[in-house]
Amino acid sequence: MSELVTSRIRASATKLGLSHLATALQDVTRRAETDSMGYLEFLDLVLEEEIAVRDERRYRAGLRLSRLPHHKTLDDYDFSFQPDLDPRKVRDLATLAFVQAKANVALLGPPGVGKTHIAIAIALAVAACRAGFTVYFTTLDDMVRHLTAASAIGRLTRKLQAYLRPNVLVIDEVGYQPLERAEANLVFQVISKRYEKGSTLLTSNKSFGEWGQVFGDEVLATAILDRLLHHCDVVPINGPSYRLKNRLAAIDNTTMNVA
Ligand code: ADP
Ligand code: MG
Repeated sequence: MSELVTSRIRASATKLGLSHLATALQDVTRRAETDSMGYLEFLDLVLEEEIAVRDERRYRAGLRLSRLPHHKTLDDYDFSFQPDLDPRKVRDLATLAFVQAKANVALLGPPGVGKTHIAIAIALAVAACRAGFTVYFTTLDDMVRHLTAASAIGRLTRKLQAYLRPNVLVIDEVGYQPLERAEANLVFQVISKRYEKGSTLLTSNKSFGEWGQVFGDEVLATAILDRLLHHCDVVPINGPSYRLKNRLAAIDNTTMNVA
């Protein structure tokens, strides 16, 4: 190919925002020659690669913005450790139907059973899908703290957007700390404004019956639950703590040695 044509294609690709083609032009044309590609096959390759590079870039940017504390997946989760938890139910949640339906997910159970792990794994699957769904991770306490601070300087409406915009909002650790009335009100605003507009995926160590104590007000807790549970998959995980797994085994061994 003449130098002139090559540099013109590069310039046009850059102008059109086809950054991959602009840099990989020589490589793709060489592959087309080696594999004796037809015109259609070649064009297909160029466009497919451009899209793949874009998807990857969007995924990386989305992950940075999502604030996920780690990137563990369902493959890292040992379902045999929680025999009461149906792996199919969890895997179904990672297929995005709930995001499309703008429905919610509640993962309930005591500490260490993997609620945060599963919430992150589902959020990762959402972020990785080609539909371009956005994800944001927060603990309930962090969300309340940020909203309270924003409210104090008259920026509540703006700050709320951070929690309303994402397709999936993960609210981790609902119920670890009881809330003041004003704080509970902020949570109600987030949940009611997201209702049927986006998915909320939350984890809690408290049963719904205890939410009155968490939110310091039965009426407010009921109003939150009403919106949350209208379209919601509730996944109870009531097994042993994975955090204590090795420690309990060590204690068992000590006991056996003593006996
Ligand atoms: P929770 O949020 O329910 O308190 P986490 O999700 O934080 O629990 O899990 C605690 C730790 O144990 C994490 O490092 C998590 O990856 C790991 N973990 C929990 N359950 C499992 C499991 N069944 N298989 C593999 N790792 C697990
Ligand atoms: Mg947790």
